[in-house]
Amino acid sequence: MDLLTALLRDLTSSICQITGEDNSIYGYGITYENDVFMMHPYCWCEEENCPWCNPKEGERIAPNFYHKKSGLRVQWYKYIGRGTEIENMPDDILSVFVDCKNSLEEEKNGPDVCDFSTNK
Ligand SMILES: [Zn+2]
Repeated sequence: MDLLTALLRDLTSSICQITGEDNSIYGYGITYENDVFMMHPYCWCEEENCPWCNPKEGERIAPNFYHKKSGLRVQWYKYIGRGTEIENMPDDILSVFVDCKNSLEEEKNGPDVCDFSTNK
């Protein structure tokens, strides 16, 4: 397994831990987006308005992984690591994924929405 594939699968697994989604889908990716990156599994839906199946005229097929700051775009066929197409591969791929994982940590420890207080 190449490094990019391993990193993408690892990231998928981390997202699953946060969202509580089924772990069996690691190899396919998962639908997730935050300020740092976007991930979307290979799509078979063929819906007319789907940016992964039928992009609007003049637009490109949406990537399966996109890191916003570096512009890294990855597409795969059905499962991560198959028919991979990469654009804007950064020199330091590890730092991109550290960035993604950190963004998940922030989400996990995100703002405490519970404002219940017994001291009122
Ligand atoms: Zn689709």
